[in-house]
Amino acid sequence: MSTTVSGQSGTWRNWAGNVTARPVREVTPASVEELSAAVRKAAEDGLTVKAVGTGHSFTAAAATDGVLIRPQLLTGIRAIDRAAGTVTVEAGTPLKRLNVALAREGLSLTNMGDIMEQTVSGATSTGTHGTGRESASIAAQIKGLELVTADGSVLSCTEKENPDVFAAARLGIGALGVITAITFAVEPIFLLTAREEPMPFERVLAEFDELWAENEHFEFYWFPHTGNTNTKRNNRSAGPEKPVGQLSGWFEDEFLSNGVFQVANWVGRAVPTTVPAIARISSRALSARTYTDIPYKVFTSPRRVRFVEMEYAVPREALTQTLRELKVMVDRSDLRVSFPVEVRTAPADDIALSTASGRDSAYVAVHMFRGTPYQAYFTAAERIFTAHEGRPHWGKVHTRDAEYLAGAYPRFGEFTALRDRLDPDRRFGNDYLRRVLGS
Ligand SMILES: Cc1cc2nc3c(=O)[nH]c(=O)nc-3n(C[C@H](O)[C@H](O)[C@H](O)COP(=O)(O)OP(=O)(O)OC[C@H]3O[C@@H](n4cnc5c(N)ncnc54)[C@H](O)[C@@H]3O)c2cc1C
Repeated sequence: MSTTVSGQSGTWRNWAGNVTARPVREVTPASVEELSAAVRKAAEDGLTVKAVGTGHSFTAAAATDGVLIRPQLLTGIRAIDRAAGTVTVEAGTPLKRLNVALAREGLSLTNMGDIMEQTVSGATSTGTHGTGRESASIAAQIKGLELVTADGSVLSCTEKENPDVFAAARLGIGALGVITAITFAVEPIFLLTAREEPMPFERVLAEFDELWAENEHFEFYWFPHTGNTNTKRNNRSAGPEKPVGQLSGWFEDEFLSNGVFQVANWVGRAVPTTVPAIARISSRALSARTYTDIPYKVFTSPRRVRFVEMEYAVPREALTQTLRELKVMVDRSDLRVSFPVEVRTAPADDIALSTASGRDSAYVAVHMFRGTPYQAYFTAAERIFTAHEGRPHWGKVHTRDAEYLAGAYPRFGEFTALRDRLDPDRRFGNDYLRRVLGS
């Protein structure tokens, strides 16, 4: 949890360093009762409340000038129900701890994102997702939730118990209450074979529908200023396990993706004209490889080079056109983009504020090295994404407001009506929620 620095200065900072906040006070509750008491005390003092995870959001979703609730003492597994195929975890549990504990029990989540540093509740609250043909975001794997609401009471919800709350609170951007525990669907652990392979941009676009249809998890990275991509196909496998070799894994994952990439970005930031050449070299540095391992070791990897990110979900059928427009925009501009554009997919789900709510989706994520001006690139990219009815990731940089989002999400009104009922005084409000959900 070292990424959310809140030192003696009292300033909280997110992972990317682009958001800071100065809470009036911080609380680290060790039980649901202590958390309820903290919410009631904040109400008595007329303060707002915000639970924070590991600060991996690029938006100010977790920022507060009221009471900051830290997750460190609300961690661990509460129960595993093998018959039901579920695990119940405390809300502050980091995903990496959950993944390791599940693997020890011979269990796994079905799908996950690129990293596993986040807390379970922080990750699900903004709709953190990986890539999948049938399997959706982490929030879509939730079977039950427990949350402390604005009056300090504890509310449980599942498909059967408080179903209206369940429909919305799986992805609540912290607006409905403080989550204290989450029950996830789990399955017996399985093996995935990953095939990573460089491929020309034009070929990936021409074959995108087949690549998506033929693979359980397809994603690719396009390197701006080049016609090169690196593709990744993950499919279930009968084995045997064939992990990435220690040395080659270190070389590709640590040295090329983190160490050399960091240096390349320093050079690019200092001398921007070198960026296209660096992009050409970076895009060729990674070679094809195939390995087979348990899910979290295939889905996730360390991300040590810090960046700022914007990501939009567009209808899946709009993906190739969106990418073509993005490439033309970069090619015609003076922009120097040293980070690849990441492309993933998700099937439609039934969560009110999910970026894939009711719609088969493709995600396009643009990144900039931390400390490099990103506004011009993100503004131009956002113009393209919104022209394709894009929905921004709640935890990644965007400029959309409630008016736009109400049009982008058919069930937006359902969410805000529930918010009015559960939190009429906006105990869990902050500037970000005022912008994206309305006052
Ligand atoms: C390096 C990196 C890689 C990433 N990879 C991916 C990826 O592959 N896919 C993807 O979709 N996203 C990705 N993200 C985004 C990230 O997963 C989300 O922003 C996520 O929300 C961060 O989780 P967190 O624990 O840090 O929560 P925070 O950022 O601290 O908080 C996020 C939100 O959750 C709320 N929250 C936290 N705890 C609670 C609680 N107990 N009850 C109620 N609300 C709560 C906060 O108030 C806030 O609104 C990445 C981010 C980084 C920095």
